[in-house]
Amino acid sequence: MALPHDTVETMETIWNAELIDRLIALWDEGLPTAEIGRRLAISKNAVIGKAHRLALTPRPSPLKRPPTRRRGLGVQPAICTWPNGHPGDKDFKFCGEKPVPGKPYCAKHAAMAYLRPKTTTAA
Ligand SMILES: [Zn+2]
Repeated sequence: MALPHDTVETMETIWNAELIDRLIALWDEGLPTAEIGRRLAISKNAVIGKAHRLALTPRPSPLKRPPTRRRGLGVQPAICTWPNGHPGDKDFKFCGEKPVPGKPYCAKHAAMAYLRPKTTTAA
């Protein structure tokens, strides 16, 4: 019985310059390795192995997206942001007190912000 061929060597023999060029072109298009293999009539493993040997840029999996950090929604400021004075005035500043949990204002200003202004001033 003859010794079985080294499978890696057998796979290498399929590669010629044209096939490598097509592999690189399809790889650059971002096609899945299985699709590249189908188009080049070679196995997916051959595509992956050759791409590895050619040191082609690994492509991020579409399933692995970098985590996105949500900011700006529901973030409580560190201080009460109730304005004292008018924006633009040189003495304008925020209240600066410790805010009520879940609200952007301190207890006093949260009460002022969330209570409806009384309309019975014309007594
Ligand atoms: Zn305040």
